[in-house]
Amino acid sequence: MYIGGRWVDSVSRATYQARSPASGEMIATLPEGTREDAQRAIAAAREGTERLARLSVWERAKLCARVADVLERHKDELARTLTLDQGKPLHSEAKAEVDATVAGWRNAADHVKWLETSVIPVEDPHKRVLTIRQARGVYAVITPWNFPLNIPTEYLAPGLAAVNAMVWVPAPTTSVVAVKLVECLEEAEVPAGAINLVTGPGPVVGDEIVAHAGTDAVAFTGSSATGEHIARRAAGKPLLLELGGNGPTLILDDANLEQAANAAAFGAFFNAGQVCSAAERILVHRSVHDEVANRLVDHATHIQLGDPFDERTQMGPLNNQPVAEKTDRHLADALARGAKVLAGGSRARGWPTDLYYQPTVLTGVARDAMINREETFGPVAPLIPFQTDEEALAWANDSTLGLVSAVFTRDLSRAFWFAERLRTGIVNVNDSTNYWELHIPFGGVAGKRSGVGRLGGRHTLYEMTDLRTICLDVRRLDQG
Ligand code: NDP
Repeated sequence: MYIGGRWVDSVSRATYQARSPASGEMIATLPEGTREDAQRAIAAAREGTERLARLSVWERAKLCARVADVLERHKDELARTLTLDQGKPLHSEAKAEVDATVAGWRNAADHVKWLETSVIPVEDPHKRVLTIRQARGVYAVITPWNFPLNIPTEYLAPGLAAVNAMVWVPAPTTSVVAVKLVECLEEAEVPAGAINLVTGPGPVVGDEIVAHAGTDAVAFTGSSATGEHIARRAAGKPLLLELGGNGPTLILDDANLEQAANAAAFGAFFNAGQVCSAAERILVHRSVHDEVANRLVDHATHIQLGDPFDERTQMGPLNNQPVAEKTDRHLADALARGAKVLAGGSRARGWPTDLYYQPTVLTGVARDAMINREETFGPVAPLIPFQTDEEALAWANDSTLGLVSAVFTRDLSRAFWFAERLRTGIVNVNDSTNYWELHIPFGGVAGKRSGVGRLGGRHTLYEMTDLRTICLDVRRLDQG
């Protein structure tokens, strides 16, 4: 663990073993943090806020850019550790995640420089009112295992740029790569205490940093259930929560079917479906259902499953047993409710661990099946045929989640009709639910269980700062 600028063990001396999901081999021994360790990190972060406060905006931007330079120098090592720890294919995915991570630090460096605030016209002629953005203090940051470099960067980079000190608890199944990231932060001379890493179980160290009075705000990406639990434990603190999605992909009868099927396949199978913006449900017009189904089956059966270090591999194992078991449960439930398997349909055999899953295409999925109602997070593309636009919209919105949706049509009016009515924070027209760039606002719609706040470029900087209003009385008393 990295606390106050030093690498330390847990006070309890307890450790746990990290294993590769691809081979099952032990890859590292990590400290199993306790509540006391988390408290030490919170105290170190509080001291870190003072060191950070001395940095001007330009110096902070330089610091973030320096982190990006160091990450760039260690790109290969980071990508290999990411593949070893997470299981994603090195050549087709891990390297791209490292590139996005480097870009994330550069992005924070750029955006913080142009974070202009306002001077507000007011009624009182003697007053001048202006706003400034202030750091919040100590942030509790908890991140999941699906993008273990990129998602932390979404908080750590803007958090640092905005001079918050942070205590970061990464997911236990991807903490080896978290250590590598922090080694790079150390090499970039991020001030001691600014970013502290505590490894260990979320319900222990994560809970401590969320609930402890020494943290001022919380940033979390993960499941809706855990996010809601955290919101209760953090009661009163500002929250940035990026939670689950159940991304409906709507393919209308006038869509370009090649484009739509390619995007739906990317939406369902990228990162083995372990993406909050994944295409979790594919609603397809009856008249084009068979062609879309055939194209998706073609995709699924041509995906090269295998050793994630092999250059030919397009899909590696799932990251952990609970997510594989959830995918099993969702498939069994869909089949029990009448769905038909068109491709895949179970875990893949013959690999060193049982975490490999066959890319799966289902059709005839009942609307009340778990796979339609909850986030599956596995490589499954469930097809649901519909007849009218109104039906498609109602079914797409019939979910407790509302993060990203996609609609495929050649008709701009129909695209807008859906874009203004779909209950998701992001609507992609004629592209996959997974289309995303670093600086565009990303987050859940109000009233659903996909989170609160917006990530992306200056939006994260707004979220991770307080707006301070300064009211100046400028009357000259010496002139009566
Ligand atoms: P969780 O939301 O349970 O875990 C995410 C992180 O939160 C982990 O580091 C976890 O640690 C930590 N955590 C768990 N409980 C607490 C707590 N009480 N207080 C503070 N931190 C806590 O996700 P899972 O990893 O269990 O995955 C389950 C499902 O969640 C997936 O199948 C998927 O549907 C969804 N998910 C969605 C993500 C997204 O990007 N939207 C990302 C990851 C998961 P620990 O592992 O020790 O419990």
